[in-house]
Amino acid sequence: MTIGFIGLGIMGRPMAKNLIAARYDLVVADRFAPTDDLVALGATAAATNADVARAADVVITMLPNSPHVVEAVTGPDGVLDGAHEGLIVVDMSSIAPGAASSVAEAAAAKGVVFLDAPVSGGEPKAIDGTLAIMVGGDAAAFETVRPLLEVLGASATLVGPVGSGNVVKLANQVIVAANIAAVSEAFVLATKAGVDPEVVFAAIRGGLAGSTVMNAKVPMILAGDFAPGFRIDLHIKDLQNALDTAHEVGAPIPLTALIMEALQGLRVAGDGALDHSAIVRHYERLAGVEVRRS
Ligand code: NAD
Repeated sequence: MTIGFIGLGIMGRPMAKNLIAARYDLVVADRFAPTDDLVALGATAAATNADVARAADVVITMLPNSPHVVEAVTGPDGVLDGAHEGLIVVDMSSIAPGAASSVAEAAAAKGVVFLDAPVSGGEPKAIDGTLAIMVGGDAAAFETVRPLLEVLGASATLVGPVGSGNVVKLANQVIVAANIAAVSEAFVLATKAGVDPEVVFAAIRGGLAGSTVMNAKVPMILAGDFAPGFRIDLHIKDLQNALDTAHEVGAPIPLTALIMEALQGLRVAGDGALDHSAIVRHYERLAGVEVRRS
């Protein structure tokens, strides 16, 4: 089976490497990033996204947001321009559910099946091949691509029709943002009140307040290490998609709206390219204290 891979950024590049290591034939393309390291590992570089589709049985896309996926799949020299009937496109980017449905419709008109399959886990799990993958779309196509999703992830779950993969991903991002904000607010409070934040972490991480987010992000906060990871700018993109989708379906999400404004403030302060653990800096500025290892 030949797999086309479009979008070789922080996530896509290690994912493509894992597929090569699992002995799949890969045809790769990225509009801006180099492909040499993947070619050195045995992949073939294609000039356009249409050329990727011409050579592939399955095309995976891993791009920043909805406009990039719309353009890469339905735009000029895009995947659909080179697609043959029966091609399966698996978009693993985090995009708006409505955009996934529109692209799926355009694909169906050409006999192409489109699955939306965003991931959770970030760069470390992309490298380890242990992502959590949530898939929306046709069950038979899901079964066809399941073996390669199992190379990329520890789990691949069919969650409903096309678009629902991204609905689940938005739910994930709402929870992660609120969790980091709550951890940040609490650690700023404890630090300002005079308790060593490292001791706070040791005392509460095993209790009900403990979480995967706390375990992943508090060590970064204590070290003042905000290298991404998952950039605040990308989390703003996800929360904007969450707010838009929530308003479309009539589900107000006030907590997310509040955190969105904190993220906007961080972006204005020049922190948009930092890891989202830097949400703590918003609360640190409010209180005039830093949550760091002493
Ligand atoms: P990235 O910006 O590092 O990579 C995106 C790549 O797409 C870039 O190399 C860019 O050159 C390429 N690209 C853009 N438009 C293109 C086009 N038309 N044709 C071909 N290539 C094009 O982003 P990333 O961090 O790898 O994230 C990708 C997606 O995965 C995003 O939707 C993000 O929200 C999601 N995600 C990221 C993480 C993370 O921790 N970084 C975790 C989970 C999900």
